[in-house]
Amino acid sequence: MNPLYEQMKTSVFERMSLLAAKHGAVNLGQGFPDFGWPDEVLEAATRALIEASNQYPPSRGLPALREAIAGHYERQQGLDLKPDHVCVTSGATEALGAAILATVEPGDEVVIFTPAYDSYAPMIRRGGAVPREVALQPPGWRIERDALKAAITPRTRAIMVNNPHNPTGRLFDLQELQTIADVAREHDLIVISDEVWEHVLLGGAQFTPLFAFPGMAERTIKIGSAGKIFSLTGWKVGWTISAPALAGVLARAHQFLTFATAPNLQTAVAFGLSEGDDWLSPMRDRFTRARNRMAGALSDAGYVVLPSAATYFLCVDLKASGIDLDDEAFATAAVERAGVAVVPLSAFAEQESSRHLVRLCFGKRDETIDAGVAAMARAK
Ligand code: PMP
Ligand code: GLN
Repeated sequence: MNPLYEQMKTSVFERMSLLAAKHGAVNLGQGFPDFGWPDEVLEAATRALIEASNQYPPSRGLPALREAIAGHYERQQGLDLKPDHVCVTSGATEALGAAILATVEPGDEVVIFTPAYDSYAPMIRRGGAVPREVALQPPGWRIERDALKAAITPRTRAIMVNNPHNPTGRLFDLQELQTIADVAREHDLIVISDEVWEHVLLGGAQFTPLFAFPGMAERTIKIGSAGKIFSLTGWKVGWTISAPALAGVLARAHQFLTFATAPNLQTAVAFGLSEGDDWLSPMRDRFTRARNRMAGALSDAGYVVLPSAATYFLCVDLKASGIDLDDEAFATAAVERAGVAVVPLSAFAEQESSRHLVRLCFGKRDETIDAGVAAMARAK
């Protein structure tokens, strides 16, 4: 057995969802919405399942989907893309794995910003490389140039960044993104830019992809996910966007991970992305209202809530809320005794500054939010 996996805990999301089911708790832990998916996209998947081929699609993705993804980013983010920039993967999770395997060699280092999405460090290690953590500090979670530069060594091969950021809900600003671009160019690094939350923007927040920064198109691997765009997290259709030469290498890593992704889901995502972008603004309004509802109710219940500008997550500061438990102890008590599942932030980071924070998912219907916050009030 590989000791990395023998010693590893089950993912916090799976753990909390199983505990929520076991205790009949409101699940505000694992990030998935309980509303908001477009029926037309579901219908397109059903039609394609019955009427189109269910045999292996091309490994890099159905041409219609690669075309639709390129067109979508051209309209939304002003990127000049062709289908050759796109490689379709089985979720962003596979895209992250393929990006790491395609970029690193044993002994290389990859810079990550912590708290970091839980798959980053284990995948980097499994790729034979070493994650170098740059710890972001609450409540600002800013990327500082000096801290990033201090993490760069002659072995650094890549910087992995997640913007907008799970679990903090932070949207890094243009200055922070410029810092990443400058350091990447100066040290000739690849940037793996996990942008799965690019469309879940709250209260009018604006997103700029790293790919758009001068000199970054040739060194950035942008990662997207239809699961987030269409609130269909179980679909596991993701992709990488990169310069065509790099896309060829990524495609070779991808071909030996999953080779391809369910063709009917690809067809449906292509349909959804080609339908114009009228759905984006109502989606953002709905998530913004949900954030405001949850943040307001948690404050009324005496919790200190950190700001969240994107994603459908917000963090609660337990210490500032007068709670004397660490995040793991609180999360366990909350799901077992108060009836609400949350995610302890230490699952995303070893650092001390995360030990008194928990993440809640607000991508929920009003009644789910209200029931969850009522349980949070009992947990206090
Ligand atoms: N990266 C981040 C930052 C995420 O939050 C998620 C899922 N929530 C993923 C990657 C994985 O996306 P997918 O479900 O498409 O594999
Ligand atoms: N990305 C989701 C979250 O942050 C969960 C994904 C998963 O369960 N692997 O909650």
